[in-house]
Amino acid sequence: MTLWFSAIFLGGFVLFGFFMWVDLAYSLSQGRDRTLTRRAARIAEMLDATNTISPASREARFEQLTDVIPEGSLIQVFDIAGARVLPRNSSAPDFPWPARIAVGAGDEFSSLEYGGRMFRLLQRRLASNPPLVILVAGQLEDNRNMMARFTTGLAWASPAMLALCALGGYFLNRRALQPIDQMAATLRSISIGNLSQRLPIANAKDELQRLGETCNDMLARLEDAVNSINRFTADASHELRSPVALIRTVAEYALRNPHIDRDSREAFEEILAETVETGQLLEDMLTLARADAGYGTIAFEAVELAELVDDAVARLRPLAEAKHQTVDVHTSGTAWVNGDRSSLRRLVSILLDNAVKYTPTGGHIGVNLAASNSEVLLTVCDSGIGIPEVLLPRIFDRFVRADPSRGEVNGTGLGLAIAKWIAGAHSANLTVQSKEQAGSVFVVEFRPDESQPAG
Ligand code: ADP
Repeated sequence: MTLWFSAIFLGGFVLFGFFMWVDLAYSLSQGRDRTLTRRAARIAEMLDATNTISPASREARFEQLTDVIPEGSLIQVFDIAGARVLPRNSSAPDFPWPARIAVGAGDEFSSLEYGGRMFRLLQRRLASNPPLVILVAGQLEDNRNMMARFTTGLAWASPAMLALCALGGYFLNRRALQPIDQMAATLRSISIGNLSQRLPIANAKDELQRLGETCNDMLARLEDAVNSINRFTADASHELRSPVALIRTVAEYALRNPHIDRDSREAFEEILAETVETGQLLEDMLTLARADAGYGTIAFEAVELAELVDDAVARLRPLAEAKHQTVDVHTSGTAWVNGDRSSLRRLVSILLDNAVKYTPTGGHIGVNLAASNSEVLLTVCDSGIGIPEVLLPRIFDRFVRADPSRGEVNGTGLGLAIAKWIAGAHSANLTVQSKEQAGSVFVVEFRPDESQPAG
């Protein structure tokens, strides 16, 4: 845009300069001719008035007059035969007066060079008796100098003005486009989790204001649509919880009967396992739907993470031991963060559950909690099956699971999405590094303003 602006300006400036140049040249030449005409008129007047006096007196009057006229030495009077009448002794004898004196009526202008300088010459024929011709010359050097100065000025001014224009255009463009950059940044930061955010709009009554208002209208419509989907998901999950819990209770009750036959037992055990899974799925969906709707249960308080990690490990240890997995926990002292205790417990459990679930028998699981005044880092690593590289960028999305043919255990595909949401709600950063068949490392980094000094 700056380039276009500069090119248009340069074109305009050059055109303007050209017309100014032509106009100035014309005006100067017209001015010069008018001056010569005025001088010729004064001489003609004097000649007319001194027609009857003696040639000597006439010459004296002529000299008096040419003394006061600028460039007076370049005025001469000839008769039509070409003989000079006045002055009889020219002070500029070698001036190249034309050999042929104009005989036509009226004024005749011409240009000539003398001593390396240009001169303009006017020949005026007088209807006197005897007929006389006045020759008035005037140098054109001043005009030429002025034109040269004007041309040089233009030549210097063009690049200077171009640079000024390019710089000005660049800064003006930046200023004009800054609100668009801000709008783009705000729009980039808006996701499904913060659809209530709106673009700041300046009351400028311009296209930008209209664009901002249109975007805000669109965001409002999107927010409405997403809210109704969230409400539906939350309501559906909530409504389904009771029948699933009832089925589970019935299955548990039936299994408590010692006289139940083998086939029925197997069937009820399967029902029980499915209801546990379905119950978990509904809980997860409800959690995320509530989180999306902005009423996820987050109540901030000072939470000691080391204690929370120890509890989660203690709960998981029997499962890990059943799979002959070693679990190493390393927590250096206490680690305080500002957060919601049950959500943080859920976050730690999800990462630990997955580590146990996706690590084969005899594998290794490591949990490390490091706290400093500036950050708290929770690391959960395992020597499990790892996550395929293609899946890594989407692994925190909802319902994303690796290929079931890997013989993985059952799951909902919502655990990591919930973990990511919990981390985000605590302004913490949850990241993963993983290599298939080598293991995974999940790191939760609590930012300084969210963590509290130990104690
Ligand atoms: P779920 O475990 O219920 O399937 P998650 O959201 O917790 O859902 O995990 C999503 C997917 O990420 C899992 O299905 C699994 O393929 C992969 N995954 C998560 N944690 C690990 C891990 N520690 N090792 C290998 N794969 C994992």
